[in-house]
Amino acid sequence: LVRMAGVNKHFGDLHVLRDIDLEVAKGEVVVVLGPSGSGKSTLCRTINRLETYETGTITIDGEALPEEGAELAKLRADVGMVFQSFNLFAHKTILQNVTLGPIKVRKMSKADAEAHAMELLKRVGVEAQAEKYPAQLSGGQQQRVAIARSLAMKPKVMLFDEPTSALDPEMINEVLDVMAGLAKDGMTMIVVTHEMGFARRAADRVVFMADGQILEQQAPDEFFANPTSARAKDFLSKIL
Ligand code: ATP
Ligand code: MG
Repeated sequence: LVRMAGVNKHFGDLHVLRDIDLEVAKGEVVVVLGPSGSGKSTLCRTINRLETYETGTITIDGEALPEEGAELAKLRADVGMVFQSFNLFAHKTILQNVTLGPIKVRKMSKADAEAHAMELLKRVGVEAQAEKYPAQLSGGQQQRVAIARSLAMKPKVMLFDEPTSALDPEMINEVLDVMAGLAKDGMTMIVVTHEMGFARRAADRVVFMADGQILEQQAPDEFFANPTSARAKDFLSKIL
């Protein structure tokens, strides 16, 4: 579903993505691990075309990433992204936050968008908050709304960039549980996280990055038991 081949990107002199080859199949859950600055966020942002790249190809469902315009809006709908910061619209209600994209980009009727949004808010456990504003919700609730907002666009793949890093510890699991539920329901997901428990429980594959390169790709059990590269061993020794 997602295919990156020979992708390279620089920020000035810094070579942030080096010959990235990554394929993610439909329904697969890939967790991306790696030290700070290894290029994990840049990798996600490149797939969503929030960043450009110099060489290589990226396709989503067989289609090359569009350059601009309406096609780009459709790509952003097809490739949902959830960030560390929730980025909800502060002056819109929870329900409006979730229906805005479907009405504007997917051209859904307001009634259909609201019905679908309520289903999604229920799925992430915040349907009682639909008429409230983001500031009235906890961080964990806001992040679950952000997930519902992405899902409302009926994406083909969901990217998560450290979705629980900004949350208080007691709220982390409520968000990870929603993500694990999505994974179980067959959503294709690329997840950057430091939550090793989530990687073990929900990932089909772990991708380990260092210095802009993918050094290892394997099943989580194998990766945690037998990391092959020195960088991965070092990384795991520091976090486990
Ligand atoms: P972290 O775990 O800290 O989030 P990361 O693996 O997500 O790290 P990236 O954010 O992708 O790493 O950054 C990779 C490298 O690119 C880092 O050295 C970073 O400083 C640099 N970088 C990221 N964004 C930019 C930018 N817009 N301009 C210049 N350099 C950048
Ligand atoms: Mg990052």
